[in-house]
Amino acid sequence: MSNDQIWQAVLGEVELNLSKANFTTWFKNTFISSFEYDKVVICVPNTFTKAWLENKYHKKICAAMENVSGKNITEIFYKVEIKKNNPVGGLLKKIKIKREENNNISVNRFSLNNKYVFKNFVVGKGNELAHAACQAVVANLGNAYNPLFIYGGVGLGKTHLLQAIGHEVSAKTDKILYVSCEKFANDYINSVKSGKAKEFKDRYRNVDLLLIDDVQFMAGKDGTQQEFFHTFNELHQANRQIVLTSDRQPKSIPALEERLLSRFEWGMIADVTQPDTDTLVAILETKCREKNYTLEKKILYYIAENVKNNIREIEGALNRIIAFHEFNNSQPTIESTKNILGSLLVNTKSKSITNKDIIDSVSGFFKISEKDIIGKSRKKELVYPRQIIMFLMRTENGASYPTIGQELGGRDHTTAMHAFNKVKRELEENEKIKQDIESIKQVINNSYN
Ligand code: ADP
Ligand code: MG
Repeated sequence: MSNDQIWQAVLGEVELNLSKANFTTWFKNTFISSFEYDKVVICVPNTFTKAWLENKYHKKICAAMENVSGKNITEIFYKVEIKKNNPVGGLLKKIKIKREENNNISVNRFSLNNKYVFKNFVVGKGNELAHAACQAVVANLGNAYNPLFIYGGVGLGKTHLLQAIGHEVSAKTDKILYVSCEKFANDYINSVKSGKAKEFKDRYRNVDLLLIDDVQFMAGKDGTQQEFFHTFNELHQANRQIVLTSDRQPKSIPALEERLLSRFEWGMIADVTQPDTDTLVAILETKCREKNYTLEKKILYYIAENVKNNIREIEGALNRIIAFHEFNNSQPTIESTKNILGSLLVNTKSKSITNKDIIDSVSGFFKISEKDIIGKSRKKELVYPRQIIMFLMRTENGASYPTIGQELGGRDHTTAMHAFNKVKRELEENEKIKQDIESIKQVINNSYN
């Protein structure tokens, strides 16, 4: 199969889980630029899409790539492909490619990223407990805290810590398994489908250390939870170590079986929280060292203080600064940093969005005219976006029901109220509407903030 054929097949799978508008928004103009062994480079039209695919759809893309290609994919890069007739773009592209070659993250035989080791992990207020717990686990495998459950927001170092444990322990034993929760679930489902449940059990129940990343994805997967329950028991009884991460604490994972919840709480629960500025600066210094680049302290402080969201984003900001100055062969200053980070920094100013912005974004997202959205027709393809607009006016702008009705062609306030409640209810059970709304919010924030 050619790369194009593979990508078409992958898109076919991904599309099944997404609404049409959502799919088109994020997968338009994407393609595979290289696929060698188990590494894939996917080109996307802009950084906005890149970030969204990385954060939201990476797992889906990875699973689909594995299904379609029949290979175990260890790495997927998303790259912004800039048009060739743009000279600056062309050069930037060259630099980017050079970086990718240099920075190629090597993955060892346990599928651990070689960058994620304790040596590269900066300990600060937000993560010292989690870090200490990880160290204790390494020192006393299976006996200190079992399981160890690490939770916290996106990009705060959970995966880094989890893999660091794997690296340390790999000096003592080969029987280590690091998997994302989704991989565990997929492996399980495939093993059942292909009548290989025994192989699955042998694989997962015969390790000294089981590392499972992002267990919040077990939410609602009953079969997987059941299987994990038995895996857990067997390992635990034999004093084998289990470490789990999640974006929330066990009791906040929805639809998690009671008996699993109680097991997650058996050992030690440690959270990671937002680092303070000094820790962030230290992290930036580590990242600079990894990239063989030096930046003045005051610039590091400037980045840490101004790009506050999460460490992954801060790392992205750092990469931008380095790429820009390497390209221009110039020395970074506060001024140039400010300019380069411009679009990132504007985000924090958060100019408030208007009801009109919401109407524009939603009609753009669903590719229907504003006139139709506001109009009287009750066709399904119009009613759904209309209700989303009413919902967003309420949640994003705090608009009153009468105002919302007014904005949408003079409808009654009870219509707005009904729409709001309906969307709110559906959000709890319908994955597609959740994704649509998240995407639209992202579009709104990106365009108007
Ligand atoms: P999470 O799994 O919590 O979403 P990651 O472990 O993937 O976050 O971390 C995101 C990025 O931030 C990674 O590149 C990681 O190396 C880096 N990072 C996070 N915390 C630290 C830290 N304390 N020291 C060094 N790097 C860190
Ligand atoms: Mg992670």
